[in-house]
Amino acid sequence: MRLLLINPKFPESFWSFRWALNEVLRGKRAVNPPLGLATLAALCPPDWEVEIIDENVEPVPLLPQADLIGVCGMGVQFGRQKELLEYYRSKGYRTVAGGSYASLCPEKYASLADTVIAGEAEYIWPEFCRDYAIDCAQTLYHETGEVSLEDSPAPRFDLLKLDRYTSATMQFSRGCPFRCEFCDIIVMFGRKPRTKRPEQIGRELDVLRAAGMRSVFFVDDNLIGHKPDVKALLRYLIDYQKRHDYAFSFGTEASLNLAESQELLDLFREANFTWVFIGIETPDPASLKETLKTQNMQTDILGSVQRLYQNGIDVLGGFIIGFDNDTLDSFEMQRRFIMDSGIQAAMVGLLTALPRTPLYERLEKEGRLRLDADHTDNTKLGTNVIPKQMEYEAMVEAYRDLYRKLESDHGIAERIRNKLRHLHVPHKYQSTYTTRESIAIVTRIITKGILPGGPLRLWYFLRTFPFLTPRKIPLVMVEWITGLTMQDYVRRHFGMAGSTRSPERLIDATRNAIARYVDQGSAALADRSHGADLRLSLSLGGALDRRFFVRVSAHLEQLLKYTPATLTLRLEALWQADQGELDTLLERLKRYGDRVFIVVDERIRHLVKVDSSVFHLVLAQAL
Ligand code: SF4
Repeated sequence: MRLLLINPKFPESFWSFRWALNEVLRGKRAVNPPLGLATLAALCPPDWEVEIIDENVEPVPLLPQADLIGVCGMGVQFGRQKELLEYYRSKGYRTVAGGSYASLCPEKYASLADTVIAGEAEYIWPEFCRDYAIDCAQTLYHETGEVSLEDSPAPRFDLLKLDRYTSATMQFSRGCPFRCEFCDIIVMFGRKPRTKRPEQIGRELDVLRAAGMRSVFFVDDNLIGHKPDVKALLRYLIDYQKRHDYAFSFGTEASLNLAESQELLDLFREANFTWVFIGIETPDPASLKETLKTQNMQTDILGSVQRLYQNGIDVLGGFIIGFDNDTLDSFEMQRRFIMDSGIQAAMVGLLTALPRTPLYERLEKEGRLRLDADHTDNTKLGTNVIPKQMEYEAMVEAYRDLYRKLESDHGIAERIRNKLRHLHVPHKYQSTYTTRESIAIVTRIITKGILPGGPLRLWYFLRTFPFLTPRKIPLVMVEWITGLTMQDYVRRHFGMAGSTRSPERLIDATRNAIARYVDQGSAALADRSHGADLRLSLSLGGALDRRFFVRVSAHLEQLLKYTPATLTLRLEALWQADQGELDTLLERLKRYGDRVFIVVDERIRHLVKVDSSVFHLVLAQAL
């Protein structure tokens, strides 16, 4: 039995860290590998041949040698997951769908895959495999009981191309004791945290250490959900680190009450947890109360963040605006808090209602859901929630403005200074890079990030440089990488890239540049924009020449650089002489690949190599 498991490409978001991966951390293609697929592979019968393809780091095969194809996905991947499932099914493959979104709404997949796996896989996946082997697989396997993580096998890390990621991933627990109204984690995993035994984690670390991984992200939604168990884990990790010369640097997600326990903070620091992501959501107590995030109300939030810094733990923060209590003034309150806290990776999202959550059910009853809006990514310019005290458009504009301020060079630098006042660098701090790699990274930050920003950015950079505490230099570099990465995302996706020319003029310039080829019928350009949603479609269907490709690539590059436009490139025919020119065009557009959709006519697929991990290779029949 040959099983192919696919992790679909994510649309670009803050979490993609695209600028950092493209410009600074060369050789890395994505941040985290698909841990769920590696776990699923470990649950397969031993005689199954399993392959994992992560479309975020490698292209998907169009005609794979496989008997069965499994495609997983989170909500944000649903569009691509659907497209892949439909494509492979249309080619005659048996398909199975799974992942967190299929667990939350399995009914959406009923017509997309032969079988849907909904819920935790440890018991139902082996059941499916048994049924599949004797040709009586059902259409739905739905886990409704409680899964013991002690029954969860060590993931097949050997099937992942780990060297293409900045961190490895592990999971110790599932479930969280809190009850935030918007949270889908407790809908999927429940409020009673379940954990692995520390020895299981030790075995997984052994494999990762042998693979040369130094940075590990515990993907638990709240690692400290069950404090006695996490303390046992941390003591185990401390012992492991001592035995292996502090081989790992860890990061995780945890609730803010981590800062209340000095014992936990000491254990975190000793185990070498260098960062933690915390769902702060809002500094406004009334909004916290409304959303039932009561654990953040019992503490001084700013003081807690600073306490984490003082214990050598960096903080990444999740923030939400759009609660019923929020008004347009809430944006300034959030901005001030984020600046004061020094949190550079501040993931601010508009309140979004995910299906099955208490928030969704409440808003549905109140008729306050925008049913046609996307609810799968809460860091986009929009939401499916109709706000109570703000006009929707005004809220979205205020959200854009908040990021404009946060991601200015001044905003980045001020946060670094505010953080450095409190962040203690533990003596055993070790970079996960060699000295040579570190020098190369610093050089690229300066040449690709600081200098292109002009004298003012250089001035801000120098103001943050820790001349008197050189041990903090790596931290400052990480801060600039994070800040510039988010700035780059915001500029490209929120339409603030700073061109003096309007999108219309850029499109007109492109049209004029290729007018001759359009007149000849070998190319066609169509503007399919709707308001601020800029969409351009370029079809290539006849004999072209070098001059065409040089012109069009320069104009398209400008358009993609300075606007949030998407481009659909339709390759209907390709002259052999133009192949090299097309490759050059794709090379120039690749840094904007997430906004470039490429449709290749079936007849010339053998001539055109499109890397679907870079561009969106359209597989949908309708297009
Ligand atoms: S603390 Fe985090 S994981 Fe727990 S319920 Fe709240 S949002 Fe969900």
